[in-house]
Amino acid sequence: MSALQVEAPEWMTEDLRIFEDGVAKFMEREVAPNQERYIKHQGVDRALWKKAGEYGLLCASMPEEYGGAGGTFAHEAVIIDQLGKKAGDGWGITLHNAIVAPYILHYGSEEQKKRWLPRLASGELVGAIAMTEPGTGSDLQNIKTNAKRDGNHYVLNGSKTFITNGGTANLIIVVSKTDPAKGAKGTSLIVVETDEVEGFRRGRVLEKLGQKANDTAELFFDDVRVPTSNLIGIDEGMGFVQLMQQLPQERLIIAAQGLAVIERALEVTSAYVKERKAFGKHLIEFQNTQFKLAECKTEATVARIFVNHCIEQHLQRKLDAATASMAKYWITDLQGKIVDECLQLHGGYGYMDEYPIARMYKDARVARIFGGANEIMKILIARTL
Ligand SMILES: Cc1cc2nc3c(=O)[nH]c(=O)nc-3n(C[C@H](O)[C@H](O)[C@H](O)COP(=O)(O)OP(=O)(O)OC[C@H]3O[C@@H](n4cnc5c(N)ncnc54)[C@H](O)[C@@H]3O)c2cc1C
Repeated sequence: MSALQVEAPEWMTEDLRIFEDGVAKFMEREVAPNQERYIKHQGVDRALWKKAGEYGLLCASMPEEYGGAGGTFAHEAVIIDQLGKKAGDGWGITLHNAIVAPYILHYGSEEQKKRWLPRLASGELVGAIAMTEPGTGSDLQNIKTNAKRDGNHYVLNGSKTFITNGGTANLIIVVSKTDPAKGAKGTSLIVVETDEVEGFRRGRVLEKLGQKANDTAELFFDDVRVPTSNLIGIDEGMGFVQLMQQLPQERLIIAAQGLAVIERALEVTSAYVKERKAFGKHLIEFQNTQFKLAECKTEATVARIFVNHCIEQHLQRKLDAATASMAKYWITDLQGKIVDECLQLHGGYGYMDEYPIARMYKDARVARIFGGANEIMKILIARTL
């Protein structure tokens, strides 16, 4: 899993190694060669989702009875790692697999699991989760999108922005207020199957600094009617609790994505400084290059050990919110720092888009902002002091 001198974690079993080889091949064959096109089109091909479904990569950690591959979070960790190492950031498979599907598995009714999970596993449905609105991101309690009950339907009104997979997704978990007077306790998660409703509209696919292979978009809901059976869970008002319970996994995912990029940055930079010459020497022969890369490798090693520990804890259902927040904030900060150092060692070539390090630099910036900005992570950690 890692080029660092870190012992393989216990959860990395022989079966997972075989799975990892398969995932690596899929990323090398199906994703990496098409990256330029995805970037140009601001999104992956719709067919990639179907291929990933056929290959068993969608809903890897969902039970087989619901069409998944019957794996655990360790399978998702392998996919995250290989995506980051072989194909870069951007494709929203992790959000689909390890953020959207778990809400349905953990809180959905039997009928909902049977209705949605097999279609998420095949790629017929692409998932998204819509929390953020133009007026509020970090302050999630303050969202305005509302879902008013009308007989056995909800009528949704509001708008969302910065939604990963937003240009494609046809199953969207919409964070809505079912009782605006109750604040967090009036928040519910409601599924909108976009192919089935009227009044749903996608806005622009947003022009971003990086992660351009993702169709991050604005979404609009104008009197969108969905059956009350699309509420995730039995009772209204449980949305905030459900979101809070899933956040440690979501934060661990961002940390693992950051770490994959750190390791890739080190790999491409080590190769570059052994090739490139200045003043008659390879760059690796300068003490500054050695010291910089020695520092980066040390920090990456510490990060790998910490992420492996967090994955282990999570597999045992012991990962708490504060530790997951530490992983998210510290590793994404480190990602920014190491990718920047590595770019510097590439000189002018590091600033050219055709060099992977330039892409990594642009893709990395958002990791400190999304999934809970790093400042919010520190607030959560500070509460445990
Ligand atoms: C590429 C991309 C993909 C995204 N994907 C999704 C998605 O799929 N679904 C989704 O719902 N959202 C998504 N988001 C939104 C993302 O989660 C939000 O941007 C993020 O939560 C921050 O919210 P905000 O942009 O409104 O910033 P704000 O909340 O306005 O924050 C601005 C700044 O103020 C700081 N700040 C805010 N509150 C405090 C505080 N109490 N104390 C100290 N500092 C504070 C923040 O840390 C930040 O630095 C995505 C965003 C991007 C850029």
